[in-house]
Amino acid sequence: MLRAVTKCLLTNAVAGRRMMSQGSLAGKVAIVTASTDGIGLATAQSLGKRGAHVVVSSRRQANVDKAVSLLRSENIQVTGTCCNVGNSEDRENLISMTLEQCGGIDILVSNAAVNPFFGTILESTEEVWNKILHVNVTAAFLLTKQVVPHMEKRGGGSVVLVSSVAGYQPMQGLGPYSVSKTALLGLTRALAPDLAQSNVRINCVAPGIIKTRFSTALWQSEDLTNELLKQMSIKRLGKPEDIGEVIAFLCSDEASFITGETITVTGGMNCRL
Ligand code: NAP
Repeated sequence: MLRAVTKCLLTNAVAGRRMMSQGSLAGKVAIVTASTDGIGLATAQSLGKRGAHVVVSSRRQANVDKAVSLLRSENIQVTGTCCNVGNSEDRENLISMTLEQCGGIDILVSNAAVNPFFGTILESTEEVWNKILHVNVTAAFLLTKQVVPHMEKRGGGSVVLVSSVAGYQPMQGLGPYSVSKTALLGLTRALAPDLAQSNVRINCVAPGIIKTRFSTALWQSEDLTNELLKQMSIKRLGKPEDIGEVIAFLCSDEASFITGETITVTGGMNCRL
């Protein structure tokens, strides 16, 4: 049997590459935050179907249970727990539970973000500002800091932060959120040289308009959707899996020479700082 598979791989290089890429994350343990819905859940699916054991989490146990059942039904190796990334105790539990149940950490996808505010940036209060920056930026930094020593023990790893097109072009009404997403572009660049010493790569993905619950306000109105489509070369809204697949690529060996970068996945929206 083994001889037959080896022969097939040697004689059919394309099929061989495809088979290897399907299992390219076999043996890896991947923490994905905010992964019970939308982009996080699609990322867990993309990593899981490449063979990673995924650790999914979000604030609500019922959502965690639902995501775990779905992923198990897709034959993905998965562990789930509650974690509000803004809470230090939750972050510590997430790491310790992963180490206890999965034996190590190779991948972190920091995907959680909140936006409890809509209005002009000068109307945002100190409380709102601090909450957005704390969950969207500080927690991403602190989680990265916590996982890197464990990745180092496994010989290296990969971190991906989830930013947004709003990090390039601030969205009207979403000032503090947009600033938090710009900060992640800077965090990625600033951390890359330090983490490289531990053989850990860090990259960032900036999604455009992706059809999820988070972005409901942007796609519920047909007029607004049409306005947004005018800004895109590819005339459709993004799907969560459009982002999950790019994140999985960044976590794979195929991306082993990429660090400190942000990939915009926007269907061609203009992204310049
Ligand atoms: P989504 O479909 O609404 O899913 C949000 C997920 O986050 C849920 O699993 C939710 O579960 C969890 N969550 C919310 N607050 C959390 C917290 N404090 N700690 C842990 N988990 C939390 O959202 P999405 O559109 O996939 O957004 C995911 C990321 O993509 C965010 O960083 C967002 O800024 C970014 N993004 C989205 C778009 C877009 O158009 N959708 C565009 C650019 C960037 P619980 O309710 O159980 O906590």
